[in-house]
Amino acid sequence: MLIAACTPLNLEPTFRDTLREAGINQYFLEMANIREHNSWVHSKEPEEATQKAKDLVRMSVARASLLEPLQEIELPVTKTALVLGGGIAGMTSALSIANQRHEVYLVEKDSELGGIARRMHYTLEGMDVQDYMNDLVRKVYRHPLISVSHNAAITDASGYVGNFKTWVNSEGRVREIDHGVAIIATGAEEYKPTEYLYGEDDRVMTHLELEGKIAEGNEEIANAETLVMIQCVGCRNEERNYCSRLCCSQAIKNAIKLKEMNPEMEIYILFRDMRTYGLHEDYYREAANRGVKFIRYEADDQPEIEAVEEEGQPVLRVTVTDPILGERVAIDANYVSLAAAVIPSSDNNEISQFFKLTLGPDGFFKEAHVKLRPVDFAAEGLFLCGMSHYPKHMQETIRQAYGAAGRALTLLSHDIVTVSGAVCQVDEKKCIGCGACASACTYGAIELRETKQGKKALVNPVLCKGCGLCNTKCPTGAISLKHFTNEEISSQIDMAFPALEAVS
Ligand SMILES: Cc1cc2nc3c(=O)[nH]c(=O)nc-3n(C[C@H](O)[C@H](O)[C@H](O)COP(=O)(O)OP(=O)(O)OC[C@H]3O[C@@H](n4cnc5c(N)ncnc54)[C@H](O)[C@@H]3O)c2cc1C
Repeated sequence: MLIAACTPLNLEPTFRDTLREAGINQYFLEMANIREHNSWVHSKEPEEATQKAKDLVRMSVARASLLEPLQEIELPVTKTALVLGGGIAGMTSALSIANQRHEVYLVEKDSELGGIARRMHYTLEGMDVQDYMNDLVRKVYRHPLISVSHNAAITDASGYVGNFKTWVNSEGRVREIDHGVAIIATGAEEYKPTEYLYGEDDRVMTHLELEGKIAEGNEEIANAETLVMIQCVGCRNEERNYCSRLCCSQAIKNAIKLKEMNPEMEIYILFRDMRTYGLHEDYYREAANRGVKFIRYEADDQPEIEAVEEEGQPVLRVTVTDPILGERVAIDANYVSLAAAVIPSSDNNEISQFFKLTLGPDGFFKEAHVKLRPVDFAAEGLFLCGMSHYPKHMQETIRQAYGAAGRALTLLSHDIVTVSGAVCQVDEKKCIGCGACASACTYGAIELRETKQGKKALVNPVLCKGCGLCNTKCPTGAISLKHFTNEEISSQIDMAFPALEAVS
């Protein structure tokens, strides 16, 4: 048994190794974290800190006396990856993994690879998106270790880290794929506005549609006298209370292109907050210097638009309250371009159920930890990248795709994965089969099984992460978490209470 005191938490794996090397079960370890939980936080109260250190040690000794040896599980790793979604994110991570000599199955629901990038032409930094994307597509198709399924959809998935099985229906044929890891790169979609005459008047378009017209050299757009852009269409409202992040840069990008084509064009950007974050701020200044006019509007006082005739010419009259003039102004525009929101893929719910993944409140996939595990899902062996995570610029997508591939490769480079012994177990005699534990488990580790004694909960130790959520929900105390049993925790509390009484 090892009781470690006054040591940083990150030494825990080292202590476990020490125990293993000494032939002692590694779960005979208890740490009294006197450094982080005591001396650092109470550096100005030495007397009290000394007292607390004694308490912590007493509590640790109490728990240590109840610790039990536990067995870890070793699983073989299938050295193949599944990448879901063949946009820039999916293709980048698939190539990165295949270049390290692992087989990759790339599953794309469309008939072509590329995703939203197929409709993009340039970025604010000047990247030729079509060139970049076509080069990626070529490399993916030519790679001997990448197998692409088109018009494909997942019909079922099961398994756990190192050993997943996914069924993919591609063009009528269902294929069973064994893989050790999966990367979710299903991207996002452009919102189809119902506001500002979109879909009713051809002169109203989205920023992405405007980009397409600019790229094809549309003469009518190039020679327009006035163009109005309206930001935050379909988001930052009650239905979608988030910022789509890339629309401000996209507006600036199109405005600069239009000014390059026709410096005389009057361009107005009606915005709520200009969020050209990072170095894109420079382009915002450039647009302003080129004469693009910015007018702020409030969420409860939105611009209005109507199709009218002015001196016999059809125009789109946009009215908006100018906060500097303090009154409503009317702009007669030839064209109106809308910053349509970026919305989560309609498939996210289904995918989250197949792989037991968590979605954030906005419907995008949620990472395990925003700082410590930014491309991991909470369930091991599953990773995310690109806009399936949240709306992000192309460069951010590419970097994140490399990150996700790197994390997947750390698993694929091992022959086995070791699963913790600190998992939950069910006492079938006490279990009443109510299912409270199964519905509490976010890892899908508990299922109800029919036995001679009726329905009983069964824990899959490979999927269980030992979070203990099920323990708190069980009405009969049938489910317990090994290494953190009620007896162990209670023994610590018992040792803490006399100390608390002494203080008061
Ligand atoms: C409207 C809009 C404008 C943008 N403008 C800019 C810009 O100006 N500058 C910039 O830098 N970035 C811009 N971006 C962001 C840039 O396009 C993205 O960062 C990048 O293209 C995202 O790639 P992705 O692979 O994550 O997603 P996507 O391109 O959406 O690709 C996802 C792929 O997954 C597939 N898929 C979805 N569901 C499934 C499923 N269930 N099974 C199998 N396949 C599935 C889709 O068919 C698609 O091919 C814009 C994005 C949008 C939406």
